[in-house]
Amino acid sequence: MACVFPTDLGIVVGGGLAGVSACNTLIENGCRTVLLDKSSFCGGNSTKATSGINGANTRSQKNKGINDTSEIFINDTIKGGAKRPELVKVLCGNSGRDVEWLMDKFDLDLSLLARLGGHSQPRTHRGAERFPGMTITYALIQSVEKIAEATDLARIITKARVHKLLMNGGICVGCAYEKGGAEFQEHGPVILCSGGFGADFSQDSLLGKYRPDLLHLPTTNGEHCTGDGIKMGEAVGAKTIDLEWVQVHPTGLVKPDEPDAKIKFLAAEALRGVGGLIFDANGKRFANELGRRDYVTGEMWKNKPPFRLCLNKKASDEIIWHCKHYTGRGVMKFYENGGALAKDMGIPLQTLVEEHDQHFEAAKKTEKDPDGGSYPAYPSGKSWDNRSGPTGSGKKFYHNQIPGSQVATEPFYVAIITPVIHYCMGGLEIDERGRVLAEKGGKAILGLYAAGELAGGVHGNNRLGGNSLLDCVVFGRVCAEDAAKYMLGDGIKKVDVKALASLPSKKPAAADAGAAAPAAKAAPKPGDKVNSADMPFKTDPNAPAATLGHGGIPGTPYVLLVDPEDQSKPKEPRTFEQKMGIAMGAILTASFVTSFICVKFLAP
Ligand SMILES: Cc1cc2nc3c(=O)[nH]c(=O)nc-3n(C[C@H](O)[C@H](O)[C@H](O)COP(=O)(O)OP(=O)(O)OC[C@H]3O[C@@H](n4cnc5c(N)ncnc54)[C@H](O)[C@@H]3O)c2cc1C
Repeated sequence: MACVFPTDLGIVVGGGLAGVSACNTLIENGCRTVLLDKSSFCGGNSTKATSGINGANTRSQKNKGINDTSEIFINDTIKGGAKRPELVKVLCGNSGRDVEWLMDKFDLDLSLLARLGGHSQPRTHRGAERFPGMTITYALIQSVEKIAEATDLARIITKARVHKLLMNGGICVGCAYEKGGAEFQEHGPVILCSGGFGADFSQDSLLGKYRPDLLHLPTTNGEHCTGDGIKMGEAVGAKTIDLEWVQVHPTGLVKPDEPDAKIKFLAAEALRGVGGLIFDANGKRFANELGRRDYVTGEMWKNKPPFRLCLNKKASDEIIWHCKHYTGRGVMKFYENGGALAKDMGIPLQTLVEEHDQHFEAAKKTEKDPDGGSYPAYPSGKSWDNRSGPTGSGKKFYHNQIPGSQVATEPFYVAIITPVIHYCMGGLEIDERGRVLAEKGGKAILGLYAAGELAGGVHGNNRLGGNSLLDCVVFGRVCAEDAAKYMLGDGIKKVDVKALASLPSKKPAAADAGAAAPAAKAAPKPGDKVNSADMPFKTDPNAPAATLGHGGIPGTPYVLLVDPEDQSKPKEPRTFEQKMGIAMGAILTASFVTSFICVKFLAP
C-alpha cells in the first residue's frame, strides 16, 4: 500500500440527458467530472424525445392558470403503472424544482404545455420550437463542454466504450473503458447513465432473454441501446428489477416506401395530446387516444391495420413544426381535405364524417356533464365516448375536436402508425438516492449509481409520456448530489454552472479532443512515485468521511492506493514447480549460511 489520497472526481457513463444532468450537478456541488460515451456524439435517445418533460407546480403552469401539485402528479404516475411510491415521490416531488433548474441554469424555454395520456393536468413542458429532448439535452451538453474548455472541472471523452466496473471490497471505485483499441481507466464513484436495451438484438440480448416475443418488432431506439450498464452492473452483483417490462409504443411511424425498416421514427405523444385521432383500416375509431400506451397498443392488436393517426387543422396548427418535419421525412402526409384522405384510405367519406360526429358529440356531452356517461373513463370518472367506452378506458379529455360536417373541407396531416419497442422500464434497481442495490442483501453498493433509462423500478410496468426525460434530470441530479456528498462530505461548495459555462475558453474544444484520461499513462511500477490521479486505487472503507488535514480536498473520503500489481493480478495459488523452487532456494540459502558460519567461526 502506497498512500492515501482524496478524490473529487465523479465518473459519468453515458452522455444522454441523465448523464449530462449528473455532470452539471456534480460540478454545481464542487466536484470534477469525466463523461465517457461510446458514441461519436453525446446525446443518446434523449435527443429524440419529442413530446417534452413533465413537471408539477412549475411557473409555466402557474402562468397558464393550471393548478397542479406533486400529489396529483404522484397519483397519476402510480395509476399509470408505477409501483415504488418512494421513488415516485422523488420523481414527482423534485419535478417542479428540476424543470425550473433547466429554465434558470440553461436558459431553456419550457413555457408550452400539453396533456399527455394518463395525466390529469397539462404538465408536459416544451418550448416554442424544435424537439424538446434535443433542445434540453444539447443545452446541458454545451454547458459541460464550455466548462471543460474553460476549466479543469470537466472532461468529455467520446468513442469511449465502458465495459467494466472496478470494484474493491464490494465498493465501486471506477471503471475501465476501451477507446481506439486501447484500454483506459478512470477512478472515482461511477454514475451509470448508459440508457436502456430497446435495440439489444446482440447475442447476449436482454430483449432476447426477457422479451423474446418482442424481437420481431421494430424499435424507436438508437443502436447504442444495448443494455451495457445493466450487464456491467449484473457482473458486479447488482440487482435488476422489472426487466420484462418493455414498453411497446402504439405510434411508430411507418414510411410507406420502407414499411419493414427495423428502426422507426416515433410520432410524438403530443400529436395525440393536441387532438390526433386514430382510425383503423375501415376508418373507425377503436380506442381512447389518450389512454395508456400499453392499452392503445393492446387495442391495435385487436383491430385491423393499417392504423392512421389524423390531425385536423386546429390540432396540426398547434404542433405544426413536428408535422412539417415528419412530412419532410416521408412519414406523414398532408391531405387538402377529408375527401382526399377517405379516397386514399379506400373508405367512404361518410365513415369519417360519422366518426368525427360521434367524437364531437361525446366532447360536448362531457363539457356539459363531465361525470355522466355510461362507460368507465381513464384515468377516472365516466365517459360519453361510444368508441373507447366499451374498452373500459373511455375518453374523458377532448381537444381541438371538429364536427363531421367540417370533415369534407378540413385539411389533415396523417401518418400510418404501428406498435414499436420503445422504452425499458426495468434496469438496475436503485434507492431514493440513486444508489444501485446489491442482489445479495439488497444494500446499496457504495460508489455505484444509476440514472435514466438504465435505472429500474421508477415507472413500474408502464411509463407515462414525459416521465422519462424527467426521470433523467431528477435522478441524474439526485445521484450526483449523493455522489458529491459521498466524496466531499461537509466540504460541498455550491458552484454556479451558468457562470462557469460563460468563462472564456482556455483550451481547444474538449469534446473528444482525443485526450486520454490520466489513467491512460503507463502503469506505474511498484515503488514508483505516482500522482494519485494516475493510480489504480481502492477506497478504504474504514477511512473517515470527515475532513482531515492532509492538504487534499476537505471532507473527501480517503482512497487507499495499492500496489498496481496487486490490483491487476489477483493472487493465485502457487504451482508445484514454484513451491519446489522456493524450497530449493531455502535449502541452498540454509546450506550456504551453515557453511559460512562453519568456515568463519568453527574451523580450527
Ligand atoms: C424516439 C423517442 C422519443 C421519446 N420521447 C420522449 C418524450 O417526449 N418524453 C420523455 O420523457 N421521454 C421520451 N423518450 C424516452 C427518453 O428519451 C429516453 O428514455 C431517455 O432520454 C433516456 O435517456 P438516458 O440518458 O437514460 O439514455 P440515452 O439518452 O439513450 O443516453 C445513453 C448514452 O449512453 C451511451 N452509452 C451506452 N453504452 C455505453 C457504454 N458502454 N460506454 C459508454 N457510453 C455508453 C450512449 O452512447 C448514449 O449516448 C423517447 C425515446 C425515444 C427513443
